[in-house]
Amino acid sequence: MTAPQPKAEGTLPFLPYGRQIIEEDDIAAVSEALRGDYLTTGPLIAGFEKALCASVKAEHAVVCSNGTAALYMAAKALGIGPGATVIVPSITFLATASAPHLAGAEIVFADVDPDSGLMRPSDLEAALARAGGKADAVFNVHLNGQCGAVESIAQIARQHDLKILDDASHAIGTRYRIGGDEKCVGENALSDMTVFSFHPVKTVTMGEGGAVTTNDPQWAEALRLYRNHGMTRDAALFETQEDAFAAPGAPNPWYYELTEPGFNWRATDIQCALGLSQLAKLSRFAARRRALAAAYDSLLAPLAPVLRPVAHSDCQPTLHLYPVLIDFAALGLSRAEAMARLAAEGIGTQVHYYPVHRQRYYAARYGRTELPGADAYYARTLSLPFYAAMTISDVTRVVESLKRIFGL
Ligand SMILES: *Cc1c(COP(=O)(O)O)cnc(C)c1O
Repeated sequence: MTAPQPKAEGTLPFLPYGRQIIEEDDIAAVSEALRGDYLTTGPLIAGFEKALCASVKAEHAVVCSNGTAALYMAAKALGIGPGATVIVPSITFLATASAPHLAGAEIVFADVDPDSGLMRPSDLEAALARAGGKADAVFNVHLNGQCGAVESIAQIARQHDLKILDDASHAIGTRYRIGGDEKCVGENALSDMTVFSFHPVKTVTMGEGGAVTTNDPQWAEALRLYRNHGMTRDAALFETQEDAFAAPGAPNPWYYELTEPGFNWRATDIQCALGLSQLAKLSRFAARRRALAAAYDSLLAPLAPVLRPVAHSDCQPTLHLYPVLIDFAALGLSRAEAMARLAAEGIGTQVHYYPVHRQRYYAARYGRTELPGADAYYARTLSLPFYAAMTISDVTRVVESLKRIFGL
């Protein structure tokens, strides 16, 4: 008998930092949509919206082509346009800032907690002060799937008459407590609107896709308008009476009215078929992510403080990413070198995120704001492989590689 040989490193599967999990029933759902009567504007659109409402306990959901479109539609529906100011934490994907900016707003970047990457109430207050004490909205980010001090943030925002949008692209399935009550991200217990992304690295995917939830029916109507060219077929909204109606109360069947030029940001029935199939698995995916995170947490515990998970906040997260904070200087290895060595061992990592206030465009537009929390988080963060198809032995493999590479 020979002992089982360890597989050569080159033959181990590559572990990306994130990826989709697609199962046979997802494929069947998409095939069925392809065989149906509608590839777009069909019944799966409302079907997905209804399922999303049930999943996150929202009154209204408007699905669209991607999360960036969702952020833009939300900005427009909230009345954000030229002259508006929107506060955005600097540690996020740049779409959180670019979408309201493209709607016309100027962006004031907020700092974040260097240990969690989340905007703190004091960061919102400091950003408001930099905005001259007045802003129109805050686009808060539930980074990595965690919620920070959402109650205090909401309180400050309401005191200053700010609209609150949650960018929950990372946080579908996350819950938090208000007093004794458990609330879902997307339920808008404290916010006006919530945005989700269904990109393949996110917990639930549609290939590409996004959605906005709100509890206000008028905002939901506005979101539908901005999803579809800014045009309406709702006779109650028609203003061009003579062309719109054959007789009082009898709208012409071909007629639609443009309220304001817009884009086409509709999602297809094909996307929604996949989204529906995936959304039904959210609790299983979330449980899997919790188990993987718990394995990472315990295996990494001995490596602190030079290598440690980002700080946990006081919520019940469905984590999207599993980032660690690494003191690269103390360990004598640069992040670029560490990433290259990990990649050579088949382990994909990524940095989430390069602070948006340092991005060339925004730095040129607004000058260099000093946001030490964002800079410190950015300097140390590295996202490890984390997705529902991973096994606990994959987690062990990642941790063993980290120990080897950093000499821990
Ligand atoms: C993914 C993501 C977006 C954009 O979503 P897309 O669907 O890729 O357009 C926006 N904000 C955050 C925080 C994201 O992670």
